[in-house]
Amino acid sequence: MAKQGNLSIHSENIFPIIKKWLYSDQDIFVRELISNACDAILKFKKLCSMGEATDNLNEPFEIRVTTDTEKGTITISDNGIGMTEEEIEKYITQIAFSGAEDFLTKYKDKMDDEQIIGHFGLGFYSSFMVSSEVQINTLSYQGGEPLLWTCDGGTTYELAEGTRTKRGTDIILHISEESREFLGFYHLSEIIKKYCSFMPIPIYVVDAAKKEVSEDTNEPKIEEVDIEEIDELTDVDGIEDEIIDIDTEAEVIEEPKEKPINDITPLYTKKPSECTDEEYKTFYRETFHDYQEPLFWIHLNMDYPFKLKGILYFPKLKNEYELIEGKIKLYNNQVFVAENIKEVIPEFLLLLKGVLDCPDLPLNVSRSFLQNDGFVKKISDYITKKVADKLISLSKKENDNYKKFWDDIAPFIKYGCIREEKFAKKLMDYILYKTIDEKHVTLKEYLDKAKETHENKIFYVSDKNQQSQYIRLFKDNGLDAVYLPHPIDNSFISLVEGLNQDVKFMRIDSDISGILNKEEADKTHEASLSSLFQKVLNNSSLKVSVENLKSESTPSMILVSEEGRRMQEMMKTYGMDIGHLPPQDLTLILNQNHPLIKALYNENIADKTKDLLCHQLYDLALLSNQSLAPDAMKDFLSRSHELLLNLTA
Ligand code: ADP
Repeated sequence: MAKQGNLSIHSENIFPIIKKWLYSDQDIFVRELISNACDAILKFKKLCSMGEATDNLNEPFEIRVTTDTEKGTITISDNGIGMTEEEIEKYITQIAFSGAEDFLTKYKDKMDDEQIIGHFGLGFYSSFMVSSEVQINTLSYQGGEPLLWTCDGGTTYELAEGTRTKRGTDIILHISEESREFLGFYHLSEIIKKYCSFMPIPIYVVDAAKKEVSEDTNEPKIEEVDIEEIDELTDVDGIEDEIIDIDTEAEVIEEPKEKPINDITPLYTKKPSECTDEEYKTFYRETFHDYQEPLFWIHLNMDYPFKLKGILYFPKLKNEYELIEGKIKLYNNQVFVAENIKEVIPEFLLLLKGVLDCPDLPLNVSRSFLQNDGFVKKISDYITKKVADKLISLSKKENDNYKKFWDDIAPFIKYGCIREEKFAKKLMDYILYKTIDEKHVTLKEYLDKAKETHENKIFYVSDKNQQSQYIRLFKDNGLDAVYLPHPIDNSFISLVEGLNQDVKFMRIDSDISGILNKEEADKTHEASLSSLFQKVLNNSSLKVSVENLKSESTPSMILVSEEGRRMQEMMKTYGMDIGHLPPQDLTLILNQNHPLIKALYNENIADKTKDLLCHQLYDLALLSNQSLAPDAMKDFLSRSHELLLNLTA
């Protein structure tokens, strides 16, 4: 038999769920209740502007959050729209019936911007996460009786006469024993700063015990009067009256204005053309508490096809090895939502610092929801494009600055290129490479210059100290190489090679074609030298090559095969057992022009001496490429000592 019915949800069973699961952070109640207060004021302002209500209170719109440790309450007061009995019935007692939705539907045609924050009709109930009892003391702008609604989080509530004489609402939270931490004035202020720093209505935080208001005290300042000066003056007859005058005047001079805890028009809400560099820097300092100046910034301001405002800052790295950790704060209509949500912001942009305000994103950002949202992908693409555009324009219009910034932004841009192919393709021609002469060049500039000596090859240095001998050789021969020392550079090199099929990156110790004389090497002795080294070093697979080096001061050097090395590095990154790695693919280069090499095939030199020479020449070449293994080092040192002893014998 088929039967139809309605699933019924009762507040008894849904309350614990809301309390426990709806919000992962308890402190979210602050955001929800202050957003409601903000909405209440925005709605009232809207009604006034539409001629549906008149403001006869003659006081500024504001929200006051008062914490009272003695009574154990936090009260959020607004002078907004207030609620009638009917509205309390509908919006508060019927859980999940959002007044915001209702308001928007009702005034849909007249709304030009959807600034109202609420959406779900559950925010108010987050107050029960921290309260044993919640009261609403309210008076609607439409008049009627003031009302006091009281509920202890159970399934019943009480509605009685309220105490408000002016339009607006107080939400009174009787904080539960476990949540008393929220009563602390500074703790509460911090939470409000976190969520409400940019809310569009001024918020004041008040400590009931001290009557302290947000950052400023209420004490009137008295102008300082120099005491000695007064003493001197009182000595003179007839002047006393005047001094009293000064004193009384001083007391009334300054009545300091209370400062709201929030900035109701954060810089990003303004038009880029109306913002000065100084304002951008101040906003950065205050929002991120970073006293290093940012390198530059991008002001996003978009209306169509979605609304997005924000400022992205490129922070200055303190040093090359600093872990770059950015911070992107996400807002919805000036209400803080979350930080570093990588589903909304392309991951590589998380290295930046910035604020993004997107009213179309839900306040309760659920990651799985965002991952599947095509809209989010669009935002992320848009931001990526803007960042690329800004970099290109900097490179074109402020090239000197761009070069100056480069070292700081390089890791970030390279990471971006690796992560997003589109970004990489767009920026490829604007990526800079720092040369061993400390100049910044583009790939094209480097390759143009290298055409004669090493076409389509880019030589790079991964470790300035380790490879210093090779750098010297390059410089002596008028060759250029670029520094690519960052761990990210390995992947970056592969990317550039992937996008430019002809181009090949070669580590500076992998190829000597650029430092050879024009005449071909004399290979007469190559075979005999090769077997000599193999025998002496007891290494039958050692590759030896005799070359005609331009430089006469280098007898021997080691070349490390680019392919072999990359393969090894890859195997290491994938955690392959070192024992199974193939030996390094090394070639020993012997300079035919060096007397020590010539000595090796000189019949007048004793075999013992030749042995010693082979060992030393090999070790010295290896040493200027890498560090020696412990045993090899020990042998090298004792051989060197022996040689020194011979000198003194
Ligand atoms: P939401 O804000 O998502 O709509 P809430 O549970 O937070 O859901 O609030 C439900 C409704 O109660 C609001 O939409 C609003 O109509 C009403 N409300 C809540 N707080 C206030 C307030 N301070 N002033 C006036 N109305 C309020």
